[in-house]
Amino acid sequence: MNSEEFHFKKRYGQNFLKDDTIPKKIVEVSDILEDSLVIEIGPGAGALTKLLATKAKQVLAYEIDESLEEILDHELLEFLNVEVIYDDFLNRDIQQDLKKYTFSHLYVVANLPYYITTPIITKLIEDNLSIEKIVIMVQKEVADRFCAKPKTKEYGSITVYLNYYFHIKKEFFVSRNCFIPRPNVDSQIISFTKKDNLLPLKNRHLFFQIVRDSFQFKRKTLRNNLKKYDLNKIEEILKQYHLDLNVRAEELPLEVFVEIGNNL
Ligand code: SAM
Repeated sequence: MNSEEFHFKKRYGQNFLKDDTIPKKIVEVSDILEDSLVIEIGPGAGALTKLLATKAKQVLAYEIDESLEEILDHELLEFLNVEVIYDDFLNRDIQQDLKKYTFSHLYVVANLPYYITTPIITKLIEDNLSIEKIVIMVQKEVADRFCAKPKTKEYGSITVYLNYYFHIKKEFFVSRNCFIPRPNVDSQIISFTKKDNLLPLKNRHLFFQIVRDSFQFKRKTLRNNLKKYDLNKIEEILKQYHLDLNVRAEELPLEVFVEIGNNL
């Protein structure tokens, strides 16, 4: 791609990988099995797409910026197993888009547009897609939050939400110097592998609401953040873990939130 001729759009989070080194490493850690379909969000100029196409049976890519069509057509000419849908990924019915393909394994591999990192991951979960593994590039600080352990300042409701569903692993660091244009932040490749046995939830919606409410004011205790729930019951549960209502949400592991959610 001739980067002098392309007008990068900041509003779409367009920072493209400069060479093949990072895409190669991303594909390596993705461990793509035979007979698989890989969803890519934001192929850009196709740096990662091309390598994914050599491993997967089919690549289904979503690109919001139609002005990339000519570049992508050229870059992907030799790959007959890539379909690019020019649309906003967040507005797509993915189940529907996948219907015309047959495959045994589903992956998501992408260098994400950072302005919508959380909405994209939330959609991947909420759309019930049976994804085996997600390998994505995110802003380094965001990766720290996703992988945070209790009792750290990075631990928040998004950590609990994602760790409910996935084993999350930091794969490798990517310097801001690997992109054109050079962004103001460094990046991290992380992988999400579905947990085989999800902790049973009586009411998924209520559970995640309690998690969000618990972290609403980070410096406040559960007594304050969960005022609208039955505090006596919550206190009883906390007691089993040798805790009380003066605890802050950042100190609670996933299991305690599940226990609280299932008893309210
Ligand atoms: N994969 C390329 C690479 O690694 O060089 C480009 C990655 S760039 C960080 C993010 C890409 O996502 C851009 O091509 C951008 O146009 C695209 N994008 C932004 N918002 C999108 C959306 N809502 N749906 C689909 N693609 C989007």
